[in-house]
Amino acid sequence: MSEASVFTRILRGEIPSEIIAETENVFAIRDIAPQAPLHLLVIPKSEQYRNVVELADGDPALLAEMTGLAADVARVHGNGEFRLVFNTGPSAGQTVFHVHAHVLGGDLAEGSLG
Ligand code: 5GP
Repeated sequence: MSEASVFTRILRGEIPSEIIAETENVFAIRDIAPQAPLHLLVIPKSEQYRNVVELADGDPALLAEMTGLAADVARVHGNGEFRLVFNTGPSAGQTVFHVHAHVLGGDLAEGSLG
């Protein structure tokens, strides 16, 4: 059996990170290495799905639950406007293969897509 992901370990309390919001199946934390003035991660509590394509195929309601929590945390911790980024595959920058959404906010309008 493969090792638990870093996000599962955070959820279990094995790695410190404040859970800033949660729903029945999804939780949100601050990214440890923020790439924007607001940089949160929204993550399913189960690590069943490795990326957003698998998630959308397997459980679209869970994907909708993620986008709902992303909107909530973007409103509570920012101005409610945000980018939602799913890095999908190593060459796209994915390093943790437990699907997660980056919620990026702040003054991004002049920035690049990356
Ligand atoms: P990916 O590169 O897979 O799209 O995103 C993984 C994200 O998880 C990265 O932005 C990275 O900074 C974040 N991350 C990795 N380890 C930890 C951790 O222990 N705590 C928190 N809060 N974020 C982490």
